[in-house]
Amino acid sequence: MARVVVVGGGWAGCGAAIGAARQGAEVVLLERTDMLLGTGLAGGLYRNNGRYTAAEEIKFMGCGDLIDAMDEAARHHNVEIPDHKHGSIYDAHRMEPAVKRKLAAYPNLKVLLEARAQDVRMKNGRIEAIITEDKEVIEGDVFIDTTGTTGSQANCTRYGNGCSMCILRCPTFGNRVSVAAKAGVKEMMAVRPGGGFGAFSGACEIGKDTVARHLVDELEAKGSLVVPLPLELQDENKLRIKACQQYATPPYYQNLVIIDNGYVKIIAPFLPLKKLRAVPGFEEARYEDPYSGGIGNSIRFLAVAPRDNTLKVTGVENLYCGGEKAGFYVGHTEAAVTGALAGHNAARQAAGGKPIELPRTTALGEFIAHFNEVIDKDSEGLSKKFTFAGSYFLKRMEEKGLYSIDHDAIEHWVEESGTKGILA
Ligand SMILES: Cc1cc2nc3c(=O)[nH]c(=O)nc-3n(C[C@H](O)[C@H](O)[C@H](O)COP(=O)(O)OP(=O)(O)OC[C@H]3O[C@@H](n4cnc5c(N)ncnc54)[C@H](O)[C@@H]3O)c2cc1C
Repeated sequence: MARVVVVGGGWAGCGAAIGAARQGAEVVLLERTDMLLGTGLAGGLYRNNGRYTAAEEIKFMGCGDLIDAMDEAARHHNVEIPDHKHGSIYDAHRMEPAVKRKLAAYPNLKVLLEARAQDVRMKNGRIEAIITEDKEVIEGDVFIDTTGTTGSQANCTRYGNGCSMCILRCPTFGNRVSVAAKAGVKEMMAVRPGGGFGAFSGACEIGKDTVARHLVDELEAKGSLVVPLPLELQDENKLRIKACQQYATPPYYQNLVIIDNGYVKIIAPFLPLKKLRAVPGFEEARYEDPYSGGIGNSIRFLAVAPRDNTLKVTGVENLYCGGEKAGFYVGHTEAAVTGALAGHNAARQAAGGKPIELPRTTALGEFIAHFNEVIDKDSEGLSKKFTFAGSYFLKRMEEKGLYSIDHDAIEHWVEESGTKGILA
């Protein structure tokens, strides 16, 4: 049986593992920590704006397991926050076990936790095996790099405010290692508008027991809260440094915009604890992710691999990529759907077939193809972030008629594009 090895168990890696397993490959998924989902462990918001369309498209294409898992672990549906409509929010505590159950449904898919890839064994431009930190040799026919773009600690220090002790837990499990870079590929780093590299992650989690009960009750009832910040606590500069450009609008520095993912999740890269505690109802607030959310946040988009529109990494015969590794892509949905295509194509190649591109008459096809165009033609491309949820790419979806929450309309264009069930 053809063997696909996926490195990195975030949303992209889980999507890739399922995408490949559905094609009948024997799949091994390596994750360096003791839990799947990577940065998704601190996430929650999906189906907001164009992410709704993308979620429905991947389901119609036949690989919607992870969207189903999100829906099964959702705390709220149809939530609004500034500039974002019809969002759903998953429970950050229940999400990882729900994903594990989806992966366990595939007998040909094996998950190895605390298995950190450290090196590759190459021959004639192909990867033959991944070498783990424990010196285990994991051989395969085709490989997928879904190691993300966040950290290491040294990068969070160099480009940010130091290690903020985030959910990736590098001191415990070791730093991110890029398979593509180990295979000799030159990666891209995001550039900040004001200079410097990478971008701050844009959200922090606060323990519910440390916030005033009436605010938590309101948050749990509505799913979101907008708490105005006094003028002296507002900081417009925060908008320029964050990864999530879909939240880089004035309401996000003029207010505390909060969602309920099981924590009180504030959509801000960081906020000094003293300032946070000056907000009525937050006098006893305490950060739970990152632990030092008063000082900084993790730094992302430091290691994107060049790739074609099948998601094959340029320069290595048998390596694919997905999620943040495949572009300046922000979001769980974005990671899960690009992962699914990478997994599907890796399995096709492993079985002796040809990888596919998704047509640009679908939001997913446009998302994957357009990134390469922008990076190739526009030096400002390196400072853009791409998400179905807002900013630049949502406008493009709207212009092309690819943003809809009409189930039948989405099904129709997926059918017309010839991709209905293509990933099943
Ligand atoms: C605090 C925070 C909140 C967020 N909130 C939201 C939200 O509400 N909604 C939303 O859509 N998006 C949100 N995002 C963004 C979203 O989480 C990411 O864009 C997306 O999940 C990235 O997925 P990924 O799989 O590409 O990468 P990652 O999540 O970074 O996963 C990479 C995985 O690879 C593993 N890995 C790395 N190196 C190795 C190695 N050598 N060997 C084995 N494994 C390795 C890592 O441990 C990790 O599990 C948030 C991000 C952060 C940081």
